[in-house]
Amino acid sequence: MLKVENLTFSYNKTPVLKAISFCAKPGENLAIIGESGSGKSTLLQLLYGTFDLNEGQIFWKDNQILGPKFNLVIGYDFMKYVAQEFDLMPFISVSENIGKHVSNFFPEEKKMRIAELLEVVELSEFAHLKVKTLSGGQKQRVALAQALAKQPEIILLDEPFSHIDNFKKHSLRRNIFKYLKDQNITCVVATHDKDDVLGFADKMLVLSDNTIFVTDCPKQLYKNPKTPLIASFFGEFNILDNTIVYAHELKVVEKSNLKATVTKAYFKGNYYLIEAVLNKKTVFFEHETSLDNRRVVYLKMVKKLNQFC
Ligand code: ADP
Ligand code: MG
Repeated sequence: MLKVENLTFSYNKTPVLKAISFCAKPGENLAIIGESGSGKSTLLQLLYGTFDLNEGQIFWKDNQILGPKFNLVIGYDFMKYVAQEFDLMPFISVSENIGKHVSNFFPEEKKMRIAELLEVVELSEFAHLKVKTLSGGQKQRVALAQALAKQPEIILLDEPFSHIDNFKKHSLRRNIFKYLKDQNITCVVATHDKDDVLGFADKMLVLSDNTIFVTDCPKQLYKNPKTPLIASFFGEFNILDNTIVYAHELKVVEKSNLKATVTKAYFKGNYYLIEAVLNKKTVFFEHETSLDNRRVVYLKMVKKLNQFC
């Protein structure tokens, strides 16, 4: 399994990551979340052995992951890393780019393997196009297929769907994460998108103030977000009576002691997000229909009280 023990790292004087410890079992999907600049990409690069640690150790099974001081060539056969910025060969085709990462030993098997990978990343119809003609999102999918080509034991994904449009994102995400689970490939994914986590991640690790603030399963963190940072990852929320209350946990009732005045309604598809003023503070709640500006409503919390600390 992946074992990270007491990792500390700095690019210059101030540590970017401090006292980081966690582990991931074979086949597990581990999501790393945190605000921009919290160190997600740095952590993935450290797992890959790109930099030397100031302190601590990283192991994959019995192999210690070492930085450039101890390892001439960065990277290991059992591990693949898909960076936020990807590096492809622009003047050859999608198939050939993927083929560069598949063994030439059995040409028939190689063809089939490329076809299988093209299907996983939904690029079969673009197989013969030169990579330079692809969009950013399509290039990201080629990079994903390359990383999967040699069947790594562990894959590190840095915001893997960030360049991919909404039309493709949902099905591609399901395909990739299902493929990784089916193949028992451990996956560490850095993301700021809750849709990359909910329904896929076994564990979620929250980076804040240069360290791991909390590790838990996504369901637990969603149901009981301990801080506004965690709640904000999942959606619109309010703090009422020292309690974090998601917008969908506030309902309009006939009468209550939470009297609010509507200021705006945002169409969200299957509901409206309503902005209102309650005790001079802005609150958000979800409602089936739009509500007129200045309308007075009474709200009720529909959740078990979780004390906000
Ligand atoms: P995230 O991926 O969560 O947005 P990063 O790991 O990219 O965060 O960055 C974490 C911190 O490290 C930021 O303050 C960033 O400015 C700094 N940083 C990232 N890369 C370098 C680098 N190569 N040299 C110096 N500082 C860096
Ligand atoms: Mg990043």
